[in-house]
Amino acid sequence: MMKAAVFRNPGQPLVVEEVPLPAPGRGAALIRVARCGICGSDLHFTERHAQTAPSGTILGHEYAGEVVALGAGCERLRVGDRVIAMPIWGCGSCGACRADRPIHCIRLRPMLGGFAEYALIGEAVAHRLPALVSFADGALVEPLASALHGVRIADVKAGDHVLVLGAGAIAAGAIFWARRMGAARIVVLARSSTRASLVRHLGADAFIEDAGGDLELVHDVLGGPPDIILECTGASGMIERAIGQVRPMGRVVSLGMCLHRDAFVPATAQAKEIELRFAYAYGARAFRDCLNLFDSGDVAASAMVTGMTDLAGLPETFEAQRAGGSGCKVQLGF
Ligand SMILES: [Zn+2]
Ligand SMILES: [Zn+2]
Repeated sequence: MMKAAVFRNPGQPLVVEEVPLPAPGRGAALIRVARCGICGSDLHFTERHAQTAPSGTILGHEYAGEVVALGAGCERLRVGDRVIAMPIWGCGSCGACRADRPIHCIRLRPMLGGFAEYALIGEAVAHRLPALVSFADGALVEPLASALHGVRIADVKAGDHVLVLGAGAIAAGAIFWARRMGAARIVVLARSSTRASLVRHLGADAFIEDAGGDLELVHDVLGGPPDIILECTGASGMIERAIGQVRPMGRVVSLGMCLHRDAFVPATAQAKEIELRFAYAYGARAFRDCLNLFDSGDVAASAMVTGMTDLAGLPETFEAQRAGGSGCKVQLGF
């Protein structure tokens, strides 16, 4: 048996209880969880809508830990290895997997379960953590990979003026990567200024507190409308605002996850001939690139981890994050 934070029903906090220890099947490994980040999508899956997680689900997909048991057919990993793994375990052979889009794999196995003492991972999507990469940084690879995938879809290039909407973990990662891809100016617009110094540390040039009105101030700071807008809030109405503010022929990429019906006027986008794209998850390449970043000694992104909780405190911390939290990335740690 092991302790885990279990989702029961929307509107109820997670419940820490004893559950059976999962047994690793073919190609899977069991890890003792060392760190697991709380993600906006974990919060989304516990809300009431078409994508609510089934009752009894153990969420948590941003994990790092130590291998304690191996299923049949595992050849690469050893007991005692410090590892991270993509929570997206594709078959490896379908068209989507061959195109490095495992999230669209027809035989996809989502590997959640990180909000527990032990969790299962797929050996094929696991990476050993280099000796100098901490579990905390290892558990940041997953959200950073989501951000990197979105910034690559936005095709941020040297000299681009970028507006980032939001200052949560995905926005923080997007700022980090946009800066490293050579954006000339990065302005962040968010409702609360609590993360202003963090986003500056990650590479933003300016932070503007969003009063909900038009974005003229953004134009002043950028010297004109942005070339690219990265929508990272997932809030209703933001895509419409982005379409209204991006330059003609510019790009709007939605990295936030809006689960509600949302409206915009297509003719506004049409008249400017903008590109509107959506980014979801990542592939093996982005995941590896983010691990290599930490392995190279570039640990600026470590600052995204702003808090920790133990398993007993997780349900309360989880609800605090839902209410807006003040930190960026909070991790479960053992
Ligand atoms: Zn995540
Ligand atoms: Zn596949």
